[in-house]
Amino acid sequence: MLEQITNEAKTYTKEGKPAFYIPVLALQSVEQFAACIVDENGNYFEVGNTDELFTLQSISKVINFMVACEYHGLQFVLDKVDVEPTGDPFNSIIRLESTAPGKPFNPMINAGAITVVSMLPGKTAKDRVAYVADFLSRITGSTHQVNEAVYCSEIETTHRNRAIAHYLKANDYLLCDVEETLEAYIRLCSLEVSTKDIAKIGLMLAGNGAYPLTDEEFITRNTAKVTKALMTTCGLYNASGKYAASIGIPMKSGVSGGVLCTVSKGRVEHLEGKLGIGVFSPGIDDIGNSVAGMKFIERLSQTYDLSIF
Ligand code: GLN
Repeated sequence: MLEQITNEAKTYTKEGKPAFYIPVLALQSVEQFAACIVDENGNYFEVGNTDELFTLQSISKVINFMVACEYHGLQFVLDKVDVEPTGDPFNSIIRLESTAPGKPFNPMINAGAITVVSMLPGKTAKDRVAYVADFLSRITGSTHQVNEAVYCSEIETTHRNRAIAHYLKANDYLLCDVEETLEAYIRLCSLEVSTKDIAKIGLMLAGNGAYPLTDEEFITRNTAKVTKALMTTCGLYNASGKYAASIGIPMKSGVSGGVLCTVSKGRVEHLEGKLGIGVFSPGIDDIGNSVAGMKFIERLSQTYDLSIF
Protein backbone atom coordinates (compact mmCIF):
# COMPACT_ATOMS: atom_id res chain seq x y z
CA MET A 1 0.00 0.00 0.00
CA LEU A 2 2.83 2.43 0.87
CA GLU A 3 4.32 1.74 -2.51
CA GLN A 4 1.04 2.58 -4.20
CA ILE A 5 0.73 5.83 -2.21
CA THR A 6 4.30 6.75 -3.14
CA ASN A 7 3.79 6.01 -6.82
CA GLU A 8 0.61 8.04 -6.87
CA ALA A 9 2.27 10.99 -5.11
CA LYS A 10 5.18 10.91 -7.56
CA THR A 11 2.82 11.47 -10.46
CA TYR A 12 2.20 14.95 -8.98
CA THR A 13 5.84 16.11 -8.82
CA LYS A 14 5.63 18.01 -12.11
CA GLU A 15 2.42 19.79 -11.11
CA GLY A 16 4.41 22.10 -8.85
CA LYS A 17 7.07 24.69 -9.65
CA PRO A 18 10.26 25.36 -7.68
CA ALA A 19 10.18 28.51 -5.51
CA PHE A 20 10.65 31.11 -8.19
CA TYR A 21 11.37 34.11 -5.96
CA ILE A 22 14.62 32.73 -4.52
CA PRO A 23 16.84 32.54 -7.62
CA VAL A 24 18.93 29.52 -6.54
CA LEU A 25 15.83 27.53 -5.48
CA ALA A 26 14.21 28.30 -8.82
CA LEU A 27 16.86 26.03 -10.38
CA GLN A 28 15.77 22.91 -8.42
CA SER A 29 14.51 19.96 -10.45
CA VAL A 30 10.89 19.23 -9.55
CA GLU A 31 11.25 15.54 -10.28
CA GLN A 32 12.84 14.74 -6.93
CA PHE A 33 10.75 12.92 -4.34
CA ALA A 34 11.81 11.48 -1.00
CA ALA A 35 9.86 10.43 2.09
CA CYS A 36 10.91 9.02 5.42
CA ILE A 37 8.81 7.74 8.31
CA VAL A 38 10.42 6.75 11.62
CA ASP A 39 8.58 5.17 14.54
CA GLU A 40 9.22 5.16 18.28
CA ASN A 41 11.12 1.86 18.04
CA GLY A 42 13.49 3.11 15.36
CA ASN A 43 11.82 1.34 12.43
CA TYR A 44 12.07 3.23 9.16
CA PHE A 45 10.17 3.47 5.91
CA GLU A 46 12.22 5.28 3.28
CA VAL A 47 11.64 6.07 -0.35
CA GLY A 48 13.89 8.12 -2.66
CA ASN A 49 17.14 9.62 -1.47
CA THR A 50 16.31 10.40 2.17
CA ASP A 51 19.87 11.61 2.82
CA GLU A 52 19.80 14.25 0.10
CA LEU A 53 20.11 17.74 1.55
CA PHE A 54 17.74 20.63 0.98
CA THR A 55 17.26 23.91 2.81
CA LEU A 56 14.83 24.18 5.70
CA GLN A 57 13.16 27.40 4.57
CA SER A 58 9.99 27.84 6.64
CA ILE A 59 10.49 24.58 8.52
CA SER A 60 13.14 26.60 10.39
CA LYS A 61 10.27 28.60 11.90
CA VAL A 62 9.24 25.60 14.01
CA ILE A 63 12.78 24.96 15.19
CA ASN A 64 13.49 28.61 15.98
CA PHE A 65 10.25 28.85 17.93
CA MET A 66 11.13 25.81 20.04
CA VAL A 67 14.63 27.14 20.72
CA ALA A 68 13.33 30.61 21.70
CA CYS A 69 10.73 29.08 24.03
CA GLU A 70 13.28 26.84 25.69
CA TYR A 71 15.70 29.71 26.15
CA HIS A 72 13.29 32.41 27.37
CA GLY A 73 10.20 30.50 28.49
CA LEU A 74 6.97 30.30 26.51
CA GLN A 75 5.35 33.41 27.96
CA PHE A 76 8.23 35.69 27.05
CA VAL A 77 7.93 34.60 23.43
CA LEU A 78 4.14 34.84 23.36
CA ASP A 79 4.31 38.41 24.67
CA LYS A 80 5.91 39.34 21.34
CA VAL A 81 4.13 36.97 18.95
CA ASP A 82 0.56 35.69 18.99
CA VAL A 83 -0.88 32.24 18.21
CA GLU A 84 -3.65 33.24 15.77
CA PRO A 85 -3.86 31.99 12.17
CA THR A 86 -4.14 34.74 9.57
CA GLY A 87 -5.47 33.16 6.38
CA ASP A 88 -2.98 35.42 4.56
CA PRO A 89 0.06 34.39 2.49
CA PHE A 90 3.19 33.56 4.53
CA ASN A 91 4.98 36.76 3.53
CA SER A 92 2.03 39.10 3.98
CA ILE A 93 2.63 42.44 5.60
CA ILE A 94 -0.90 43.76 5.76
CA ARG A 95 -1.81 42.95 9.37
CA LEU A 96 1.27 44.61 10.79
CA GLU A 97 -0.17 47.88 9.56
CA SER A 98 -3.93 47.31 9.72
CA THR A 99 -4.15 45.94 13.28
CA ALA A 100 -2.94 47.68 16.42
CA PRO A 101 -0.47 47.32 18.03
CA GLY A 102 1.12 45.47 15.10
CA LYS A 103 1.93 42.30 17.05
CA PRO A 104 2.70 39.50 14.58
CA PHE A 105 -0.11 36.95 14.46
CA ASN A 106 1.88 33.72 14.76
CA PRO A 107 5.43 32.37 14.53
CA MET A 108 4.74 30.24 11.42
CA ILE A 109 4.43 33.22 9.06
CA ASN A 110 7.37 35.43 8.18
CA ALA A 111 6.42 38.36 10.44
CA GLY A 112 6.17 36.21 13.57
CA ALA A 113 9.18 34.14 12.58
CA ILE A 114 11.36 37.23 12.15
CA THR A 115 10.37 38.39 15.64
CA VAL A 116 11.24 34.94 17.03
CA VAL A 117 14.65 35.01 15.33
CA SER A 118 15.38 38.36 16.99
CA MET A 119 15.00 36.58 20.36
CA LEU A 120 17.42 33.75 19.69
CA PRO A 121 20.45 33.57 21.97
CA GLY A 122 23.75 34.93 20.63
CA LYS A 123 25.48 38.26 20.07
CA THR A 124 25.70 38.00 16.28
CA ALA A 125 23.60 36.46 13.50
CA LYS A 126 26.17 33.69 13.14
CA ASP A 127 26.02 32.92 16.90
CA ARG A 128 22.25 32.58 16.71
CA VAL A 129 22.46 30.28 13.71
CA ALA A 130 25.13 28.15 15.42
CA TYR A 131 22.94 27.81 18.52
CA VAL A 132 19.98 26.56 16.46
CA ALA A 133 22.15 24.29 14.28
CA ASP A 134 23.53 22.72 17.44
CA PHE A 135 20.00 22.13 18.82
CA LEU A 136 19.08 20.51 15.51
CA SER A 137 22.20 18.34 15.48
CA ARG A 138 21.46 16.97 18.92
CA ILE A 139 18.13 15.65 17.60
CA THR A 140 19.22 14.45 14.16
CA GLY A 141 22.76 13.25 14.90
CA SER A 142 23.86 15.09 11.72
CA THR A 143 25.70 18.38 11.31
CA HIS A 144 23.80 21.20 9.63
CA GLN A 145 25.47 23.80 7.43
CA VAL A 146 24.14 26.97 5.87
CA ASN A 147 23.87 26.62 2.09
CA GLU A 148 25.74 29.83 1.24
CA ALA A 149 24.48 29.96 -2.35
CA VAL A 150 20.85 29.84 -1.20
CA TYR A 151 21.56 32.33 1.58
CA CYS A 152 23.26 34.84 -0.77
CA SER A 153 20.54 34.42 -3.34
CA GLU A 154 17.80 35.22 -0.82
CA ILE A 155 19.46 37.95 1.24
CA GLU A 156 19.94 40.02 -1.92
CA THR A 157 16.32 39.72 -2.97
CA THR A 158 14.48 39.69 0.36
CA HIS A 159 12.73 43.03 -0.01
CA ARG A 160 9.43 41.92 1.51
CA ASN A 161 11.11 40.41 4.56
CA ARG A 162 13.15 43.58 4.96
CA ALA A 163 9.96 45.64 4.86
CA ILE A 164 8.32 43.31 7.40
CA ALA A 165 11.35 43.58 9.69
CA HIS A 166 11.21 47.39 9.57
CA TYR A 167 7.51 47.37 10.47
CA LEU A 168 8.26 45.03 13.38
CA LYS A 169 11.06 47.28 14.57
CA ALA A 170 8.86 50.37 14.34
CA ASN A 171 6.22 48.66 16.48
CA ASP A 172 8.76 47.35 19.01
CA TYR A 173 8.44 43.68 18.03
CA LEU A 174 12.08 43.19 17.13
CA LEU A 175 14.58 42.61 19.90
CA CYS A 176 17.65 43.49 17.87
CA ASP A 177 18.86 45.26 14.78
CA VAL A 178 16.89 44.81 11.51
CA GLU A 179 19.81 43.70 9.32
CA GLU A 180 21.23 41.35 11.93
CA THR A 181 17.83 39.73 12.41
CA LEU A 182 17.35 39.34 8.66
CA GLU A 183 20.77 37.78 8.26
CA ALA A 184 19.99 35.24 10.99
CA TYR A 185 16.47 34.59 9.66
CA ILE A 186 17.65 33.89 6.10
CA ARG A 187 20.68 31.89 7.24
CA LEU A 188 18.34 29.72 9.31
CA CYS A 189 16.05 29.28 6.28
CA SER A 190 19.18 28.15 4.40
CA LEU A 191 20.26 25.46 6.88
CA GLU A 192 20.54 22.10 5.16
CA VAL A 193 18.67 19.01 6.31
CA SER A 194 17.66 15.67 4.84
CA THR A 195 14.25 14.07 4.73
CA LYS A 196 15.47 11.67 7.42
CA ASP A 197 16.48 14.58 9.68
CA ILE A 198 13.02 16.08 9.28
CA ALA A 199 11.39 12.78 10.24
CA LYS A 200 13.48 12.69 13.43
CA ILE A 201 12.33 16.18 14.42
CA GLY A 202 8.75 14.97 13.86
CA LEU A 203 9.43 12.01 16.15
CA MET A 204 10.76 14.30 18.90
CA LEU A 205 7.56 16.35 18.66
CA ALA A 206 5.48 13.15 18.70
CA GLY A 207 7.22 12.38 22.01
CA ASN A 208 6.09 15.80 23.26
CA GLY A 209 9.68 16.97 23.45
CA ALA A 210 11.30 13.70 24.56
CA TYR A 211 13.00 11.76 21.77
CA PRO A 212 11.47 8.27 21.97
CA LEU A 213 14.64 6.45 20.87
CA THR A 214 16.83 7.90 23.63
CA ASP A 215 14.36 9.50 26.06
CA GLU A 216 16.42 12.69 25.87
CA GLU A 217 14.23 15.72 26.52
CA PHE A 218 14.78 18.55 24.03
CA ILE A 219 11.84 20.81 24.83
CA THR A 220 9.19 20.92 27.53
CA ARG A 221 5.87 19.17 27.03
CA ASN A 222 4.13 22.54 27.05
CA THR A 223 6.35 23.98 24.32
CA ALA A 224 5.77 20.82 22.26
CA LYS A 225 2.00 21.13 22.60
CA VAL A 226 1.93 24.80 21.62
CA THR A 227 4.28 24.09 18.71
CA LYS A 228 2.01 21.32 17.42
CA ALA A 229 -1.08 23.50 17.83
CA LEU A 230 0.64 26.19 15.76
CA MET A 231 1.69 23.68 13.13
CA THR A 232 -1.91 22.45 12.85
CA THR A 233 -3.50 25.87 12.66
CA CYS A 234 -0.80 27.87 10.83
CA GLY A 235 1.86 25.46 9.52
CA LEU A 236 0.71 25.40 5.89
CA TYR A 237 0.10 29.13 5.59
CA ASN A 238 -3.28 30.03 4.07
CA ALA A 239 -3.99 26.35 3.30
CA SER A 240 -3.79 25.29 6.97
CA GLY A 241 -7.57 24.97 7.39
CA LYS A 242 -7.98 22.95 4.22
CA TYR A 243 -5.27 20.50 5.25
CA ALA A 244 -6.52 20.29 8.84
CA ALA A 245 -9.75 19.02 7.29
CA SER A 246 -8.27 16.66 4.69
CA ILE A 247 -5.13 15.46 6.58
CA GLY A 248 -5.43 16.49 10.25
CA ILE A 249 -1.76 16.12 11.20
CA PRO A 250 0.46 18.86 12.70
CA MET A 251 2.72 19.84 9.79
CA LYS A 252 5.10 22.55 8.64
CA SER A 253 6.15 23.13 5.08
CA GLY A 254 8.91 25.18 3.47
CA VAL A 255 9.21 26.62 -0.02
CA SER A 256 12.16 24.37 -0.87
CA GLY A 257 9.60 21.54 -0.88
CA GLY A 258 10.12 19.95 2.54
CA VAL A 259 7.29 19.01 4.90
CA LEU A 260 7.67 18.07 8.56
CA CYS A 261 4.87 16.00 10.13
CA THR A 262 4.34 14.59 13.58
CA VAL A 263 1.92 11.84 14.58
CA SER A 264 1.37 11.13 18.29
CA LYS A 265 -0.07 7.66 17.70
CA GLY A 266 -0.60 5.67 14.57
CA ARG A 267 0.18 2.57 12.61
CA VAL A 268 1.59 2.60 9.09
CA GLU A 269 2.29 -0.99 8.04
CA HIS A 270 5.21 -2.20 10.20
CA LEU A 271 5.61 1.22 11.86
CA GLU A 272 3.68 1.84 15.03
CA GLY A 273 3.18 4.28 17.92
CA LYS A 274 4.74 7.73 17.75
CA LEU A 275 5.74 8.62 14.20
CA GLY A 276 7.87 11.32 12.61
CA ILE A 277 7.45 11.95 8.89
CA GLY A 278 9.63 13.94 6.50
CA VAL A 279 8.79 14.51 2.85
CA PHE A 280 10.69 16.40 0.18
CA SER A 281 9.62 17.29 -3.34
CA PRO A 282 10.55 20.76 -4.62
CA GLY A 283 7.55 21.47 -6.85
CA ILE A 284 5.34 23.79 -4.79
CA ASP A 285 1.90 25.29 -5.39
CA ASP A 286 0.98 28.98 -5.40
CA ILE A 287 0.61 28.96 -1.62
CA GLY A 288 4.09 27.48 -1.06
CA ASN A 289 3.35 23.83 -0.20
CA SER A 290 4.95 20.84 -1.97
CA VAL A 291 2.36 19.42 -4.37
CA ALA A 292 3.58 15.81 -4.40
CA GLY A 293 4.58 16.01 -0.75
CA MET A 294 1.09 17.06 0.34
CA LYS A 295 -0.48 14.40 -1.88
CA PHE A 296 1.69 11.73 -0.21
CA ILE A 297 0.71 12.89 3.29
CA GLU A 298 -2.95 13.20 2.38
CA ARG A 299 -3.13 9.65 1.02
CA LEU A 300 -1.11 8.37 4.00
CA SER A 301 -3.39 10.03 6.54
CA GLN A 302 -6.56 8.84 4.83
CA THR A 303 -5.33 5.26 4.32
CA TYR A 304 -3.98 4.78 7.85
CA ASP A 305 -6.48 7.02 9.66
CA LEU A 306 -3.82 9.35 11.08
CA SER A 307 -5.95 12.49 11.54
CA ILE A 308 -6.10 13.81 15.09
CA PHE A 309 -9.72 14.81 14.55
N1 GLN B 1 13.04 32.02 3.20
C1 GLN B 1 11.67 32.05 2.81
C2 GLN B 1 11.08 33.44 2.96
O1 GLN B 1 11.25 34.07 3.94
C3 GLN B 1 10.88 31.04 3.59
C4 GLN B 1 9.44 31.02 3.18
C5 GLN B 1 8.79 29.70 3.19
O2 GLN B 1 9.40 28.63 3.20
N2 GLN B 1 7.49 29.75 3.11
O3 GLN B 1 10.43 33.93 2.08
